[in-house]
Amino acid sequence: MRTQIFNARTQKENGTNLGGRIIRSGGLVAFPTETVYGLGANGLDGEAAKKIFEAKGRPMDNPLILHIAKKSDVKQLWLHIPENARLLMDAFWPGPLTLIYLKSELIPAEVCAGLDTVAVRMPEHKTALALIRAAGVPIAAPSANLSGKPSPTTAEHVLEDMDGRIDMVLDGGSCRVGVESTVLSLVGKPRILRPGGITKEMLEQVIGSVEVSPSVLAPLAENAIAESPGMKHKHYAPDCTVIVAEGSPRQAAGSILREYGLAEASGKRCIIFATEQTKGYYRGKNYVIIGDREQPATLCANLFDALRERSHGVDIIFAEGIPTNDQGLAYMNRLLRASGFTLIDE
Ligand code: AMP
Ligand code: MG
Repeated sequence: MRTQIFNARTQKENGTNLGGRIIRSGGLVAFPTETVYGLGANGLDGEAAKKIFEAKGRPMDNPLILHIAKKSDVKQLWLHIPENARLLMDAFWPGPLTLIYLKSELIPAEVCAGLDTVAVRMPEHKTALALIRAAGVPIAAPSANLSGKPSPTTAEHVLEDMDGRIDMVLDGGSCRVGVESTVLSLVGKPRILRPGGITKEMLEQVIGSVEVSPSVLAPLAENAIAESPGMKHKHYAPDCTVIVAEGSPRQAAGSILREYGLAEASGKRCIIFATEQTKGYYRGKNYVIIGDREQPATLCANLFDALRERSHGVDIIFAEGIPTNDQGLAYMNRLLRASGFTLIDE
């Protein structure tokens, strides 16, 4: 299959119109959103959705998120709209928040992986919205990477994984948020299954207390039932080892310098993911500044790009753990999974 590439800015109308036709006729289109690039198919067509799993090598038990272009479209996808969902939709849609609730009978089993719930989000990216409108159906879309790899935040990342496997890529440049949407279940007590750009703190201002699934910061225990099937699969792994150092900035930098020295002495090539606050510790070492610890959203914005781009010719990436307030929770969720929960021992 030849993968067509359209520039979403200069070939806007043509790109989204053709993309819409491809989706309607059962094909696959990768498109930019404010979080990461999505790999889209007709969300009401089980056969089309199946192609997403094939292209990504995604386990069939991992459900997809349906993307809609106007809030009222959620009505046909859920049994009904609970009151807290209405409040959250008004506060955060369009935006990086996915809501899970009881599904309607319109939803194909492939999309929700046989569960009785379905995940829905209204993205804010103009190209994503234009594509959904052109398709005229909800678009089922996971991240547009091979399963297990870091999510793509540029069209180049998508092509690295998906060239020849999908019909089309809409190139809209870099994604603003850089990590996938917050996934919040509204079945029972509101519960964050995956943290993202819309934080626990922001959600609680609108609907009060919100729980965080324990598997956000810990590996899923063996035999445990995943609240969100995505949690049990390998995730975000670049082509090298990732090791995380926790503690204060000073402690983390100290541990990294010690391990970096040992690794280099044994012939390993290393890179350090530094922050504005800690770059001074790493003078003379191979490091890259990922962002600002005081503004964890900046770390989220760069993490996946850095995991892809900086892993070439490198054996080990050393990264600092940060506090898990605000977008720090999303950052640590992705970083810990990318590392397979490999921490430097004190
Ligand atoms: P991705 O599409 O790669 O961003 O992954 C979507 C995430 O949402 C995965 O972790 C899924 O397991 C999760 N998810 C989607 N639908 C549901 C659902 N109905 N119940 C629980 N988790 C879901
Ligand atoms: Mg994904």
